[in-house]
Amino acid sequence: MVPVKRIVLNSRPGKNGAPVPENFRVEEGTLVPDLEDGEVMVRTLYLSVDPYMRCRMNEDTGTDYLTPWRLSECVDGGGVGVVESTRCGALNEGDVVTFFSWPWQTHAVLKGTVLQKVDPQLVDGHLSHFLGAMGITGLSAFFGIREKGHVTKDANQTMVVSGAAGACGSIAGQIGRLDGCVTVVGICGSDQKCRTLIEDLGFSAAINYNTEDVPARLRACCPGGVDVYFDNVGGTISDAVISQMNHSSHVILCGQISQYNKDVPYPPPLSEEISEVLQRKNITRERFILLSYTDKLDAGLYELSQWVKSGQIKALETVTDGIENIGDAFCSMMKGGNIGKQIIKISEWKN
Ligand code: NDP
Repeated sequence: MVPVKRIVLNSRPGKNGAPVPENFRVEEGTLVPDLEDGEVMVRTLYLSVDPYMRCRMNEDTGTDYLTPWRLSECVDGGGVGVVESTRCGALNEGDVVTFFSWPWQTHAVLKGTVLQKVDPQLVDGHLSHFLGAMGITGLSAFFGIREKGHVTKDANQTMVVSGAAGACGSIAGQIGRLDGCVTVVGICGSDQKCRTLIEDLGFSAAINYNTEDVPARLRACCPGGVDVYFDNVGGTISDAVISQMNHSSHVILCGQISQYNKDVPYPPPLSEEISEVLQRKNITRERFILLSYTDKLDAGLYELSQWVKSGQIKALETVTDGIENIGDAFCSMMKGGNIGKQIIKISEWKN
C-alpha cells in the first residue's frame, strides 16, 4: 500500500466569485499498487496551477474543450512525475513523464498511453520547466507570437505584453525581443515585477498598472505606437493598449485573466469604442489557442530549449512546496503572487 494525499474540489467560488483556498480540500488515503495491463504507477514531482482552471471551478466551463471539476473529486491539471512501477511496454521504471490531466495526488495509477515521456536533458534536469517555459505557457508565448504576431526583423516594431511578469508574458516578451522587436514594454502589477522585467529579462520598459497611469506611460514608452500586443489580461488594460495601436497592427489574444472571475463568455465582448478602433485601424485580433498547433509543438519545444539552455531566455518560476499548499498557490497566482511560472513541488526527483 502506498500512502497518498490528494486534493479534491471542496466548493465552487460561484460564477462571479474569486477563488479561495477553502475551495480545495486535502484528503489522505492509500493506493493499492496492483497494476493492470497498460498501467503505470507514477510519483508526482511537480504540478501546475493555471488561470484556465478558474473556468473548471464553475459548473459549466463555458468552453467545449474544458470539463468542469466535480465536487469532492480529485482535481487535475498539468503535471510531471516519475514512473515507479510499470505494466506498460512503452514506459520503464525511472522514466519522466508529463500529462495535461495529471491528478492532484502524490502518487497515481495512470494508463501509460496518456503519458508523454520527456527527456530531462532537454531542460538540463530542471523538470518543472516542462510545465512552464518548456510546457504549455512557453509554447503559448512561442506560437502566439509566431502564428499571430507578424513580428518581422528590421521592421522597427514595438511590442507590448500584458501580464508581462507571468508565465506566458515573461517568455513572450523575451521571444519578442529575440525575434526582432526593437522595443518591448511590459505591463504588470508591482514595482518588483517591473524591475525584474527590465533588469533580468531585457524588457525596454515596464508599467505598474496598479500605481501608474497606463495610457500616459504607454504614450511615453511607445512614441511610435504599438505594432504587436501580446494580451494576457483583457479589460481596461487592453483597451488602453489597443487605443494606441498602429494601423494594420496585431493583437495576440492569448488570455483575458482580468475577466475570469466574471460570468462572461470567452473572449469577453469588447466595448463599441474598442471594436471601432480595431475596425478603423485594420487591427487583427484572432483567437489563439495552443491546442490548434499540436503538429508543430516538437519543433517549438526544440527552439525554446535552445534559447533556455543558452541563457537567451530566462525561465523564471515561483515554487511553492507541498501538495497541501496547492490551493493557496492557485489563488495567489490568480491575484498576481507569482513571478514567472507558478509551480508546486510535490516530491524530489532522485535521478
Ligand atoms: P500568469 O503566470 O501570467 O499568472 C496570472 C497573472 O495574471 C498574475 O500573476 C497577475 O499578475 C495577472 N493578473 C491577475 N489578475 C489580473 C487583472 N485583473 N488584471 C491584470 N492582470 C491580472 O498566468 P499564465 O501565464 O499561465 O497565463 C496568462 C494568460 O495566458 C491567461 O489569461 C491564460 O488564460 C492565458 N493562456 C492561454 C493559453 C492559450 O492557449 N491561449 C495557454 C496558456 C495560458 P499581475 O501582478 O501583473 O497582476
